[in-house]
Amino acid sequence: MVNLFSRMIVGITLRMPRWFVRWISRRYVAGSNLDDAVKVMKRLEKEQACFTIDVLGEEISTLNEATFFLEEYQRVIKAIVDNQIDANLSIKPTAFGLLIDKEVGMSNIEKLVKDAAEYDMFVRLDMEDHRVTEDTINVVLDLHSNGITNVGCVLQGRLYRTIDDINDVAKKLGPAADYRICKGIYLESEDIAHTSRNDIISATNDCIDAMISSGAYFAVASHDHPVIDHTLKALKKAGMGPGIEDVRANAAKPRKNKGPGYEFQMLLGVRGPLRRKLRKDGHRTRVYIPYGEKWYEYSIRRLRENPTIATQVTKAILMPWSNRP
Ligand code: FAD
Repeated sequence: MVNLFSRMIVGITLRMPRWFVRWISRRYVAGSNLDDAVKVMKRLEKEQACFTIDVLGEEISTLNEATFFLEEYQRVIKAIVDNQIDANLSIKPTAFGLLIDKEVGMSNIEKLVKDAAEYDMFVRLDMEDHRVTEDTINVVLDLHSNGITNVGCVLQGRLYRTIDDINDVAKKLGPAADYRICKGIYLESEDIAHTSRNDIISATNDCIDAMISSGAYFAVASHDHPVIDHTLKALKKAGMGPGIEDVRANAAKPRKNKGPGYEFQMLLGVRGPLRRKLRKDGHRTRVYIPYGEKWYEYSIRRLRENPTIATQVTKAILMPWSNRP
């Protein structure tokens, strides 16, 4: 039923004029250029948030486009440093050419991660759909084996394979493993992924537990109470929390601009009160800041990929008390 409703809203949105989609996406996208993103971060700094920046766009068709992303992210590094913002980078591996030419894609990513390392800045590889799961994890493993360690990827709780990935990466990287864990935005088939809401939540929570046991640094990227409440309980059980040094025997040393072994992450414009409450309780909270000229293509693509977003956005507009920015 929800799915039918979501698809109906997506259908309507696709017929709406561009200005209407712009009006809706303004809350979730910082703007079309880097200055817009800096302005939004300066505003949210007052809420003691820190940030991760995403230049909109993903799968590309030419390697010239990959060069555009590399250069734009190099500008982002400079803007973060010049404006003294507590921020790092989130990149989509396919936007760097990974699906066109693996070697070129890998070399572009390596260049950026090395540039960021000069400023002790972390680079997060967003996780896209199942076609690139293995490659994305391998990029991180390869970079670490080359001594470049300011990089980690996202894992998606909904995929069956994720628990094995956590155990495998733990064996290879030990305490240097650094993840963002989320449910996963791509609606994958039931051959490879959980598909019901409860199963996805439960699998995501199992992944969080596995990350805690493995000593990894982990960022919980969710706005969902059952995931956040589970994390808070699991942290307490592990003796972890705000202002407490990470006590896990197998944990890494504290990292610059990171929390005590963990942090929370949320999307710009989504469940601000919950994020502010976590921050008030002392947790490190990072806001994901997307910006870019391709905001329209990005918004439409996200809606097509996962129509439930349409329901969430509509609910946020019609019932603003349920989800304030
Ligand atoms: P939900 O049950 O979907 O959401 C809980 C509530 O939050 C909803 O009821 C609604 O009120 C609100 N909400 C959530 N999302 C939205 C939205 N888009 N618009 C309006 N309201 C919303 N997925 C990937 O596959 N790869 C990634 O690399 C990735 N990176 C992410 C980075 C961050 C910082 C975050 C927060 C999410 C990321 N995701 C990524 C998306 C993630 O996988 C989920 O699809 C998304 O967070 C929604 O799941 P949820 O746990 O918030 O729970």
